[in-house]
Amino acid sequence: MAASIIDGKAISEKTRDEVLQEATELKARTGIVPHLAAILVGNDPASQVYVRNKERACEKAGLRSTLHRLPETTTQQELLTLIQQLNSDASVHGILVQLPLPKHIDSVTVLDAVHPLKDVDAFHPENVGLMLQGRPRFLPCTPAGVMKMLQVSNVQTAGRHAVVIGRSDIVGKPMAALLMQKGADATVTLCHSRTTDIRRWCLEADILVAAVGIPEFVKGDWVKPGAVVIDVGINRVEDRLVGDVEYSPAAERASMITPVPGGVGPMTIAMLLRNTLTAAKMI
Ligand code: NAD
Repeated sequence: MAASIIDGKAISEKTRDEVLQEATELKARTGIVPHLAAILVGNDPASQVYVRNKERACEKAGLRSTLHRLPETTTQQELLTLIQQLNSDASVHGILVQLPLPKHIDSVTVLDAVHPLKDVDAFHPENVGLMLQGRPRFLPCTPAGVMKMLQVSNVQTAGRHAVVIGRSDIVGKPMAALLMQKGADATVTLCHSRTTDIRRWCLEADILVAAVGIPEFVKGDWVKPGAVVIDVGINRVEDRLVGDVEYSPAAERASMITPVPGGVGPMTIAMLLRNTLTAAKMI
C-alpha cells in the first residue's frame, strides 16, 4: 500500500497563520513587532534564496525582518562587531546568521556570539543545554518542524523505535534529543558515517529520519513496512531537488512519508517564525 504524504507545506501554513495571529495580538497589546535580523555573508546562491524565503515568510506572518548583507571579504571581527550591535539593539528580537559562512570565518565563534535570548536558530550552547535538559527556550528549527509534523499527523512516538541518520549539530543530534525527550518518549538509535550496516538499523525503525545530505541514500527496501519516513535531505541533482530517501520505493513500503520538496523544508521556516515570536514575547 502506498504511504500517505505528510504535507509539510500545509502544516507550515497553519503554523504561520498561528504566528500571524499571535503577532497581531502582541502588537495590539504592547506595540511590539517581532523583528528578525538576518546576516548573509558572501554570495552563495542557495543561501541567498533561503534568506529571501525567510524574509518573505516574516512579512507574511506579521514579523519585521532586516537583512544585513556583507561582502565575502568581511573579516570575522567585522561580523562579530555587527552581531554585538544587534545583540544590544532592543528593537531586534532574533538574530540569524545564514550558514555556511566563508571559510576564513569560524562558524562556532560567530554562532556563540549571538545573544542566547536572540538565538532563534537555537544553536547557542546555552540553548542546546536547555533543550537537552527538557526545558527549552527555543527549539532548533528543523528538528522542531519534524516533531510538529509527527504530532499533527498523529504519529505515536512513545515506545517506538526512532532511527535518525546523521549527527550534525543542526539536525541529527537535536533530532535524536527531541525524540528521546520525556513526552516524545521514543527509543532512539542514531546512525552516522561510521555506523556499520545502516540498512539493518533502518529496517528496525518505526520512525526513520534521514538527515545525511546524500541524494537517495536510504533505499526503498531499507524501509520497514508501515514505518513513518521523514526525509530532511535537500540535495540539488541537476535541476531537481532530491531528498536523502529513494522516494517512490520507500513510499510503497512506508505508512507515511514526507516529500522533497514540500516536506520538512517549509516547516523549518515556520519554526523560525515561531522562535522569533517567542523571543519578542520574552521581553
Ligand atoms: P551535515 O553534512 O552537517 O551532516 C550529515 C550527517 O550525515 C553527518 O553527521 C554524517 O555523520 C552523516 N553521514 C554522512 N555520510 C554518511 C554515510 N555514508 N552514512 C551514514 N551517515 C552519513 O548535514 P546537515 O546539515 O545535517 O543536513 C543534512 C541534510 O539535510 C542535507 O541534505 C541538508 O541540505 C538538509 N537540511 C535540510 C533542512 C530542511 O529544512 N529541510 C535543514 C537543514 C539541513
